[in-house]
Amino acid sequence: MTSDGLPDLRREPHPNPMPDAERERLIADPGFGTIFTDHMFTMSYTEGRGWHDARLGPYEPLSLSPASAALHYAQEIFEGLKAYRYPDGGIGLFRPDANARRLNVSADRMAMPHLPEQWFIDSIREVLAVDAAWVPRQEEASLYIRPYMFASEQFLGVRPAKEYRYLVIASPAAAYFKHGPKPLTLWVSEEYNRAGPGGTGAAKCGGNYAASLLPQSEAIDHGCDQVVFLDAVEYRYVDELGGMNLFFVYEGDRVIYTPELGTILPGITRDAIFTLAAEAGWEVRETRYSLDRWREDAESGALTEAFACGTAAVVTPVGTVKSRDGEFRIAGGEAGKFTMELRRHILDLQHGRAEDTHGWTLRVA
Ligand SMILES: *Cc1c(COP(=O)(O)O)cnc(C)c1O
Repeated sequence: MTSDGLPDLRREPHPNPMPDAERERLIADPGFGTIFTDHMFTMSYTEGRGWHDARLGPYEPLSLSPASAALHYAQEIFEGLKAYRYPDGGIGLFRPDANARRLNVSADRMAMPHLPEQWFIDSIREVLAVDAAWVPRQEEASLYIRPYMFASEQFLGVRPAKEYRYLVIASPAAAYFKHGPKPLTLWVSEEYNRAGPGGTGAAKCGGNYAASLLPQSEAIDHGCDQVVFLDAVEYRYVDELGGMNLFFVYEGDRVIYTPELGTILPGITRDAIFTLAAEAGWEVRETRYSLDRWREDAESGALTEAFACGTAAVVTPVGTVKSRDGEFRIAGGEAGKFTMELRRHILDLQHGRAEDTHGWTLRVA
């Protein structure tokens, strides 16, 4: 096994990819996560042999043993990133090396094998090389890329599997908000939590999402967009949303706060915001941040903005927070200036409209 090229790579392009007109119709209004490109990348891992049988081929159903370990014990991890269309028609990725590293951090926690970082990038390049036409051109749309790894071994005993599959699929995605971002209304879950100390909260694994679905439905039932989770010990400190990190803006002090790492997912958008906010003269403090403080400071006006962030929705204002005890608004429920400027700045970097002074972008076409 070498880490130069993808091992045993075979390229077997789709014999009849989607006709141009049909594809163009689909990517003009793709929604999110239901349409997939013509191709996918797959690779297998066996203990002792390592990674092998890299293949770029048609997007098609998998053939799996019904006893595959992931189907029973959820040994599965994933990543999410986007390919962006640049103004000159080229295509770029935003910090894919950070996704590659994070996949391996998740793999460690879930007792799964590492994937060499270069192969992560190469596998995405393979898909984009054949499916470049699927990257939308309209403002804020993108091609969402989903690399993932799961335990494929046929085995019902409980131990880390000895066989895995790694795949990359891609799905055109519309702008998250059709008419620009609308401030979110959040529901505070005081009955369920997402992740406890020593748990899997910092790993990007499907199991965390499974645990968030019931509280997320509860949020919808209460007329909210998203659930916000508190810490699992005292139910006092804010963790994050089901799939987005949170920030709290204090314009008067020129400080932004965000929950410290531990049980939350270390977002790449979160990390980019540290750099961009510092460059704009803001201090960023990673700290425990309580729900009580959130409410008091929103009511006194000391807290001037709050926002959520992640690859899917970029940077999105939080307008209202509801819980069993009532609700409060941040800045009258309106989107704040810092939030919207930050959002614009990140989008400009991602879409190749602003100069990349951080080495964050990787042009692939
Ligand atoms: C992926 C994810 C995020 C956001 O991470 P980004 O790298 O910014 O996309 C936040 N929280 C959870 C639980 C996630 O799975």
